[in-house]
Amino acid sequence: MIRIVLPEATDTHAFGRRLAGLLRAGDLVLLTGPLGAGKTALTQGIGAGLGVLGDITSPTFVIARVHRPDPTADRGVALVHADAYRLGDATDPRAEIDDLDLDASVDESVTVVEWGAGMVEQLAEAHLRIRLDRRDDDTRIAELEPVGGDWAQRLTALG
Ligand code: ADP
Ligand code: MG
Repeated sequence: MIRIVLPEATDTHAFGRRLAGLLRAGDLVLLTGPLGAGKTALTQGIGAGLGVLGDITSPTFVIARVHRPDPTADRGVALVHADAYRLGDATDPRAEIDDLDLDASVDESVTVVEWGAGMVEQLAEAHLRIRLDRRDDDTRIAELEPVGGDWAQRLTALG
């Protein structure tokens, strides 16, 4: 478990950009934590780091949104941003997202899922789990938990 203190919103954004450097097509990142914890803010940083197009906003009223790569950016990977609150009790949210006919395969995208209130504890697939919490002084704490795959090894790059 890696714990990162994020004093300001700009730190959340910067952390997302840094995290994007570790991400590649097919990755799944699950964001947990209460409303207002910074899940969407972190996703915006990830999107900036990946170099994708379009404003990243809370996907609360849609299930998922695809952000295409900026053709001038060198990463060339799309971002699928989903709200699992609307996905039901999937054991693998990626399978459900792929069923949405978004015209973007999760295997070719980085997928970030915001969980809302309910949380699924067991997931079949390897993923990076990030829990965000807001402290009384309004700073945020990010707790990173690698689940399966080579996530633990990849996280060592964060120092
Ligand atoms: P969520 O998606 O978890 O509901 P948001 O990403 O919408 O939360 O964030 C809610 C608010 O928290 C935003 O105004 C955002 O700028 C702010 N915020 C994010 N990170 C921090 C931080 N590290 N310190 C203070 N405010 C933050
Ligand atoms: Mg949100």
